[in-house]
Amino acid sequence: MKVVHTPLHALHDGGMELHRGELVPCFEMPSRVDHILGALTRDGHAIQAPRDHDDAILERVHDPAYLAFLRGAWAEWRAEGREGFMLAGAFPARGLRRDIVPTGLHARLGYYSFDAGSPIVAGTWQAARAAAHCALTAADLVAAGERSAYALCRPPGHHAGRSTMGGYCFLNNAALAAQRLRDAGFARVAILDVDYHHGNGTQEIFWERGDVPFASIHGDPNTEYPFYLGHADERGAGAGEGCNHNFPLPRGTTWPEYEATLARALEALAAHAPDALVVSLGVDVFEGDPISQFKLAAGDFRPLGARTAALGLPTVLVQEGGYAVAEIGENVASVLATFA
Ligand SMILES: [Zn+2]
Repeated sequence: MKVVHTPLHALHDGGMELHRGELVPCFEMPSRVDHILGALTRDGHAIQAPRDHDDAILERVHDPAYLAFLRGAWAEWRAEGREGFMLAGAFPARGLRRDIVPTGLHARLGYYSFDAGSPIVAGTWQAARAAAHCALTAADLVAAGERSAYALCRPPGHHAGRSTMGGYCFLNNAALAAQRLRDAGFARVAILDVDYHHGNGTQEIFWERGDVPFASIHGDPNTEYPFYLGHADERGAGAGEGCNHNFPLPRGTTWPEYEATLARALEALAAHAPDALVVSLGVDVFEGDPISQFKLAAGDFRPLGARTAALGLPTVLVQEGGYAVAEIGENVASVLATFA
């Protein structure tokens, strides 16, 4: 399979995050990519660099004002004489105004964030932009006739909404890939999100659209991040009514229950008769993951991939989460092997 990768991801190295009320080193770290790249190189996948795309393409799924904020945030931070990393600390929650975009930098940081777990550093914009280019290039490969392609995106993307960052995500790589496939002529592009955490950003972006049906299998938001979206009764609205499919599962879920749920998710997507597929591939459903609570074994990733590949659709796989760093490469390689 063609794999799209760039070393530019390493420019984003977040430092610390506020994780469940505790300031800890970021679980989302550059070495994740080294392990994935190692396993995919060993397996003989063809690694290529992304093609550079104009920033205007990002506006296909993101708010231009949000993009402008991300692009300039670090320079503004430095202009205030500050260093280290930027972390939001206040958010426009219930009862507060969202109709005014504040002028102050820290106020805007909170306005465009939904958590304190997504630090911005000097190279964040460049890395996020490069990850988006990986996803767009993988979509271009599939649009040009490849049966499947994999984008080794870092930072990940599925928590990023139209104008919100969070959950280590700044630009929604999977949404950009799906939109790119739509723009290339695929009439209906399904997105399957198998990351442990609900793909809230992707859901938000396509909520009112009937041309990009979305299915996500994830930890129950009552206790699992991102907490405030991902329930089964969220079905889409307007033209997207009935096109959003959430499958929350309890902590401790193992393969037999996961497999049955995956079958339901794939069935739900197939009912929309898609002609292409984007997979938000998080491997944090692994039992050894430090921040997730499903119990899939290493040997479960091959059947997970095989069931998904059996849809028989041109497919773009986009890397999302996975924080058991030593095992991440093997787990991703197992999924990709079933598509090759
Ligand atoms: Zn995740």
